Amino acid sequence: MTDLAATHRAVFLDRDGVLVIPEFRDGRSFAPTRIEDYRFYDDARDALIRLKEAGFLLVVVTNQPDVGKGLIPRSTIAEMHDRLARELPVDRIEICDHVQGQRCGCRKPAPGMLLRAAHDLDIDLSQSIMVGDRLSDVEAGQAAGCATIFIDLDYTETKPTTQTHTVRSIVEAVDIILGMTPNNRRQQMPRAQDLKVKIYADGADLKGILEMAKLPIIKGFTTNPTLMRKAGVTDYEGFARNLLEQITGHPISFEVFADDFPTMIGQGLAIKSWGKNVNVKVPVMNTKGEFTGPVLRALAAEGAILNVTAIMTVDQVKAVADALDPNVPAIVSVFAGRIADTGIDPVPHMQECLKALASRPKAELLWASPREVLNIFQADEIGCPIITCTNDMIKKLDLVGKDLIEYSRETVQMFYKDATASAFSIEPVKHAA
Ligand SMILES: [Mg+2]
Repeated sequence: MTDLAATHRAVFLDRDGVLVIPEFRDGRSFAPTRIEDYRFYDDARDALIRLKEAGFLLVVVTNQPDVGKGLIPRSTIAEMHDRLARELPVDRIEICDHVQGQRCGCRKPAPGMLLRAAHDLDIDLSQSIMVGDRLSDVEAGQAAGCATIFIDLDYTETKPTTQTHTVRSIVEAVDIILGMTPNNRRQQMPRAQDLKVKIYADGADLKGILEMAKLPIIKGFTTNPTLMRKAGVTDYEGFARNLLEQITGHPISFEVFADDFPTMIGQGLAIKSWGKNVNVKVPVMNTKGEFTGPVLRALAAEGAILNVTAIMTVDQVKAVADALDPNVPAIVSVFAGRIADTGIDPVPHMQECLKALASRPKAELLWASPREVLNIFQADEIGCPIITCTNDMIKKLDLVGKDLIEYSRETVQMFYKDATASAFSIEPVKHAA
């Protein structure tokens, strides 16, 4: 049987001077003692997201002797670390609250916190990195067998000299880490941050949309009457206007739902008036199967940015291209996932749709109704400019680039856990081996 060695790579992060802005006095840095003074570096979160996307576990390892000395109440440290866990994508926080001189194996420069996390989280220390702003961080990292990155903030104290790299900030440290990935296999894995395709989130739930708007990877939003009904929306315009007060930087589509062309045009003009970032979504046909070309022409002539939706065929894309104003941006939504559901490979189909839109460079093809994360990479590969994703799919982006052996093991652990929890039993047959 294959030995299942430690499988995770981790970045161990000192807290103060790395993630948290320290207080400077006489060229030395101190941990903030009051919650009002406790702030993260502005760019720390995005930097850590990049590490998470590359598959690293993130473990904070922090000496907090002021707690042991009674200078910081435990409730304050708990509040600080609640905020840290909430606002930064870290997997674990290890604290040593012992004071200098106390015998413990965890106070850096001792490697105890790193070793404990490595044991519990199955971390391969030889493939991991310690990042810190003091000699004791570098020494702890080296004692644990990790590569080390020293963030030099020019303190008037003895600096380390044997670290693997020296940088000036967490962002620079992350740049180095992502560049020093030791095995090429992982470098060849897909990475969400390399995508050129713009991800739009499909949604109709206010809270969900506002949360998505905070994610750098989400570039816009689409809604439709079916999603809004599912989310319990009863006042269409009220919901839209409320949303538009809060979402001002992202494009967002709202759909007309009339079935006769004059009312569709009227609804489209009303939707257009709700905001500059509004795209007017118009289905490619009405319920009788009549092509909505006249509606598209009328709205495009009024300067509405259209999102033509529910398209399935290449011929429909050609007809839509003809109806669009070449000078007005537009989105052309082809339901690749629904097409795939009918047994047709959506990739060559979407490539044909791209060709059909070539005469309208301001019109962007949108890969609608994707079924799996792979579709994002397929859309990217063929040069499809936009893909919509449900919240479930966006959550799955965490899996991008995941080590498959690790994933295999987690799957087996899930089977084992569920079988054990259900107290399943099989009486084994005796076997000589
Ligand atoms: Mg520090």
